[in-house]
Amino acid sequence: MPQENVLTITSIILACWVTFIIGWERISPYRKGLAFFREGFWIDLVWYTLIQSYFLKILIFDYIIMPLQRHFDLSHLQLITHWPIALQVLFFVITHDLYIYLFHRFQHSNKVFWRIHEAHHSGKEVDFLAGSRSHIMEIIINQTIEFAPIILLGANPVVVPIKALIDAMFGMFIHANVKVNMGKLKYLINSPQLHLWHHANYQEVFHANFATKLAVWDYLFGTVYDPGHAPGNKPENWGLYYDYPKDYFLQHAFSIKRFDEKSLLKYPWFKWYYTLRFRIMDQLIKLFPTKSQEPEIHFQPTLPSNKVHEEDNILQ
Ligand SMILES: [Zn+2]
Ligand SMILES: [Zn+2]
Repeated sequence: MPQENVLTITSIILACWVTFIIGWERISPYRKGLAFFREGFWIDLVWYTLIQSYFLKILIFDYIIMPLQRHFDLSHLQLITHWPIALQVLFFVITHDLYIYLFHRFQHSNKVFWRIHEAHHSGKEVDFLAGSRSHIMEIIINQTIEFAPIILLGANPVVVPIKALIDAMFGMFIHANVKVNMGKLKYLINSPQLHLWHHANYQEVFHANFATKLAVWDYLFGTVYDPGHAPGNKPENWGLYYDYPKDYFLQHAFSIKRFDEKSLLKYPWFKWYYTLRFRIMDQLIKLFPTKSQEPEIHFQPTLPSNKVHEEDNILQ
């Protein structure tokens, strides 16, 4: 099948999956009352899902993997080239999933690597889109390790879009705000039942539920946490226990240098930048007023409290 057809089919499947998950979240929510346009929705959609993904795809495939292929092309070894496509996909899904389990576990125990993972845990309202929130460096490392072997070993070219589709579908599923009971399948397949707990702000789960697609790794290596009830609906039950920036660029800056967003507002240039999107929203509301927004609403940034903790307590 030509590559373009595969891309069209995977795009259609993904669009159907997004529609299905959104409907499922409305019908059977894990946390009731979670708004569709929840806190951080636009950051996750515009910055992480659209802009960051677009540029990192170019960087990873064109500027990292292609040069690697020129020097380390292993396709002539014919290790997997004669395998059926389904077997190639299965092989890369399982091996990459084991890698991601181990790397994810390492990130939770290493202070430096935690800095490029904490963004993923920063959302206090987790839904199908929340999984897209990942630090640039985390994506570069993980996707290079994911896709380079597929290309260097000379797998069928359709394996890349099929694998990417499976990643996207699983990513949305395990973060989806849906109530699901996997029954016995929970020992094999990961689901919101386990992964939503991984996003909860509880010490007992900070070193648990690292799996992405196959929950079997957590059961096998003894890192599963499944108390049989939900974490709770309060903001403090979710996300990080310390303040975290709300802005995309500040989230990345925070991984290099700790700072307090609120104290930076004393600088006029920062205040101008930080309040820019709220002013844009204000203008949009003025352009397209609705009945419910009368009288006039002015968006204000929700500012974090002054205290910024170090992550010492987390990494126990
Ligand atoms: Zn994690
Ligand atoms: Zn997650």
